[in-house]
Amino acid sequence: MNILVINCGSSSVKYQLFDTDRKMALAKGDVARIGMSGAVLTHKPFDRQGTKVSGEILDHIVAIEYVISILLSPNHGVIKNKSEIHAVGHRVVHGGEEFTGSVLVEHEVMRQIRNLIDLAPLHNPHNIRGINACKKNLPDVPQVAVFDTAYHYKMPPMAYIYGLPYVMYKKYGIRRYGFHGTSHRYVAGRAAEMLGKPIDRVKVITCHLGNGASIAAVDRGVSIDTSMGFTPLEGLLMGTRSGDLDPAVILHIMGREELSLHEANTLMNKHSGLSGVSGVSSDMREILTAAKDGNSNAKLAFDIYCYRLKKYIGAYAAAMGGVDAIVFTAGVGENSPPVRTATCIGLAFLGVELDETKNEQAISKEMDISTDGARTRVLAIPTNEELVIALDTEEIVKNLKQTP
Ligand code: ADP
Repeated sequence: MNILVINCGSSSVKYQLFDTDRKMALAKGDVARIGMSGAVLTHKPFDRQGTKVSGEILDHIVAIEYVISILLSPNHGVIKNKSEIHAVGHRVVHGGEEFTGSVLVEHEVMRQIRNLIDLAPLHNPHNIRGINACKKNLPDVPQVAVFDTAYHYKMPPMAYIYGLPYVMYKKYGIRRYGFHGTSHRYVAGRAAEMLGKPIDRVKVITCHLGNGASIAAVDRGVSIDTSMGFTPLEGLLMGTRSGDLDPAVILHIMGREELSLHEANTLMNKHSGLSGVSGVSSDMREILTAAKDGNSNAKLAFDIYCYRLKKYIGAYAAAMGGVDAIVFTAGVGENSPPVRTATCIGLAFLGVELDETKNEQAISKEMDISTDGARTRVLAIPTNEELVIALDTEEIVKNLKQTP
């Protein structure tokens, strides 16, 4: 089955056309700067050179039109007819408490996703735009929504309720939801396979370290705790996000600097994290280079990043009463041996022992990077959220076809 996997941002659409029988992407790419000057589609078929197409891409509907036409194009395409797109799987960031798994997009589902905009004003509106754009371009093709939050729905209340008046949870849905669920789910599953054990027998800590970063405690296949909370701001230090913070700090700064709510939000989400502490960059590669060149704030940003990761690993090992494997994934986790080294130093008491040669070799590939005798395995695993979205979509669409 060919599944078009769509991930919509405010001015971008990332896509992959996935062949679930061969478990491979036939083509992938993205449309950037939608609605702005210089909009461009970057496309790469699996077996040929990639290409770029620029044009006036006014909105997401036009962007999806571009995606479909390049998938069909004689030179760069991978299918001959629209009908070869059998279903569309959408990444939807917030599923609230309503969605505990992936669902077929129907009228009522769209209403519920719209109702969740209040919880995810920066994400869900774009996801909705993506779904509408695909419905318009592919009216007869089933659409499936796969939620970032869903994998964390089995967290116990002691992990998701904040120490605020309980009525805030009841009134406004204030609780930890957790994000990056498809990634945590994928790498936890792969970790179990690499350990040669069923998922319901292993305790895994998964560290998803991209521009956004979160960590999850996956106890026998169930995410029992995760570092992102009500929004994707809580937890680890990230590229531009502060992560954990005494909430009173923000009230204090708002008073002193006379910041509006919007400005305070921007400060925490866009000007903090690696970028804010270092004053150099949100990109871990540039942080490492600057630290090497003697920039002490870049070194501090790196140290905070790894120290906080280490603290969470300790906390989640305690939450699960042990850990069999720690997984590093996403841009930083898959590609940065120094981050993995600095995080694992001092974790020998948990049975963690890195093999530095293997750690250096594990760049964008799946590898066990611990010493042969280590009790707790450390694994580098490239994430594959698109595969999870494609497989969930396939399953829902297949069941649909079987139902009379
Ligand atoms: P997103 O969260 O946008 O999906 P990615 O998972 O692609 O992001 O991660 C992007 C981040 O990965 C970049 O900001 C960069 O800091 C980091 N990164 C990529 N390659 C390396 C590398 N070789 N060393 C350190 N960090 C890297």
